[in-house]
Amino acid sequence: IRILLTTVLDQYRESVRGIAMTIQDITREVELNDAKSQFISNVSHELRTPLFNIKSFIETLHEYGEDLTEEERREFLDTANRETDRLTRLVNDVLDLSRLESCRIYHLEAVELVQPIEQTLRTYQLNAKDKGIELNQEIEPNLPAVVGHYDLLLQVLANLVGNALKFTKPGGRVAIRAYLLRNVGKLNGEEDQASEHLNNNSPEKNPVVRIEISDTGIGIDPEDQEAIFDRFFRVENRVHTLEGTGLGLSIVRNIIEKHHSSVHLISEVGVGTTFWFDLAVFQQKSTLVEELQVIN
Ligand code: ADP
Repeated sequence: IRILLTTVLDQYRESVRGIAMTIQDITREVELNDAKSQFISNVSHELRTPLFNIKSFIETLHEYGEDLTEEERREFLDTANRETDRLTRLVNDVLDLSRLESCRIYHLEAVELVQPIEQTLRTYQLNAKDKGIELNQEIEPNLPAVVGHYDLLLQVLANLVGNALKFTKPGGRVAIRAYLLRNVGKLNGEEDQASEHLNNNSPEKNPVVRIEISDTGIGIDPEDQEAIFDRFFRVENRVHTLEGTGLGLSIVRNIIEKHHSSVHLISEVGVGTTFWFDLAVFQQKSTLVEELQVIN
């Protein structure tokens, strides 16, 4: 009888577990579908606004063009042009994000961080100068290569440095830093998630390189610090111009997750912001690289 009872109980437990798992699967499916339709509705809304503006400007020019002064006409055309740029940025960001979300496997390889960092500096140096912002890099000498995807890392750096410049006033400073993390495990009292993921606490075995992008800009309110990574989220403030789509940080987070790491930030309103993330050091004979090649 005891054996029979145990078997029946086991079967019962198994089926309960089965039901629980099915419910979990369905919930996840529903959540994913919700997120997808939310995304599509946000995208449609975001695309419609500049399209509507462009159409109104063209219609006004078409109907009342002759009554407008040359200066007014130029202003209308300039605004329509800026809206077209905004639309282009939006479409590019949406495409980048959906490509990232649909591509499961990225081939990660050894990346010498000096290269994408210097490329980013070259791209943004002129913009920084125009805005009167000092843009620098501090790369630790003899920094080892990391496990990464060159183009995706370049995009992360571009988005973070672009934001840093956008939200920093003239006279401010923006810096990219990269250094080997010797004291793996803690930064500002937080657990180091990259090393945690690598499932090894020994810095000698699985060292990481920390990359920081810091600015002396407007800072981010603690209550917005989580939400800024959400798609289309933008903090309400006067700094906002037409630039920006609210997708930049979602792209950053997605790329860093593809590197099996996570992005963090430390920020103080009116003082500045530092975004940081860790990347595994490339080790020739390790199985780590193959492991990291299979993403998700
Ligand atoms: P956006 O295209 O608006 O820059 P992001 O996803 O890149 O979109 O950023 C979302 C929001 O986070 C920004 O609109 C801004 O409010 C805030 N933010 C991002 N980076 C910074 C920064 N370095 N300093 C202050 N605020 C920032």
